[in-house]
Amino acid sequence: MSDIIIIGAGTAGLSAAIYALRAGKSVLIFEGLSVGGQIINTPDVENYPGIAHTSGFEFANGLFEQAKSFGAELKREAVKELIDEGAVKRVKTDKGEYEAKAVILATGAKNRPLGLEREQEMVGRGVSYCATCDGMFYRGKDVAVAGGGNTALEDAQFLSGYCNHVYLIHRRDAFRGDQKNVSLLQARDNVEFVLNANVTALEGEKRVEGVTVTDKFSGETRTLAVSGLFIAVGQMPANEAFANVVKLDDKGYIVADESCTTGTPGIFAAGDCRTKEVRQLTTAAADGAVAALAAGKYIDSLA
Ligand code: NAP
Repeated sequence: MSDIIIIGAGTAGLSAAIYALRAGKSVLIFEGLSVGGQIINTPDVENYPGIAHTSGFEFANGLFEQAKSFGAELKREAVKELIDEGAVKRVKTDKGEYEAKAVILATGAKNRPLGLEREQEMVGRGVSYCATCDGMFYRGKDVAVAGGGNTALEDAQFLSGYCNHVYLIHRRDAFRGDQKNVSLLQARDNVEFVLNANVTALEGEKRVEGVTVTDKFSGETRTLAVSGLFIAVGQMPANEAFANVVKLDDKGYIVADESCTTGTPGIFAAGDCRTKEVRQLTTAAADGAVAALAAGKYIDSLA
């Protein structure tokens, strides 16, 4: 039996692993997708204190290597169920069953879809949720980005380096993302803002050949001829599998405060998967530390 099972190998989960291992606890991490979590899709990280500039991929890789150097064990298995038997927590994955004294949920969040007809069908055929992964396939082409947060702004910036023309479509006229990112885009000749507008349809049979946008006020529609639509309208949690052991809020985030305790003894929540105001690398890392130390204290109290 492991001391602590960590579900999710993003910034929160890997930070928790480092703190737990340094506190002398054994750790088993489960990750069903890519190690590193959401940050691997960010080309430039410039807001992590002490690191002037790095890429998301490098950051995540460094964190993983650091966790491994302290003895972290990772299993690439998707967790399907968590059963709370008091002093024993049972974790069922797509490949097996494991036990731990404590569990840290660090499941992060997944991309929110726009909800367009044929959106999922067209993923890989012009629809993408990751500009840094797929942007190079659109070199020299016209593309659109939907969203108004930092992800959309950074995606538009990244794509403007490869693509002929980039439409940035946002449902309001004010951006949620940083003004610094907005200013950078305003200075680019090949970026065009389409504001107070929503993408309402995908055009093209086998591949995306355009997007229809509808003006929020006039209701007028027009079609932008683009080969790709990059959707960056935020994230949503993926905690359904844990609803039997921890309380979820109305949006599906795990109810836990800054102490990362969930209300279920021995089960903790860290990072973007829990209720919180600010979801950043720094807050994910901080949660990892807090959850790991709390889990260690909980385990010591069992003895
Ligand atoms: P976000 O900040 O939640 O922004 C989501 C954007 O999508 C908002 O502008 C929102 O519009 C729009 N949106 C949501 N649902 C929509 C819908 N159904 N139709 C049309 N538009 C919709 O998400 P994010 O940009 O992914 O960023 C997540 C967090 O990561 C943020 O805290 C962000 O600052 C952070 N981040 C930081 C960096 C960095 O510092 N380098 C990079 C990327 C992300 P409204 O504004 O109208 O609500």
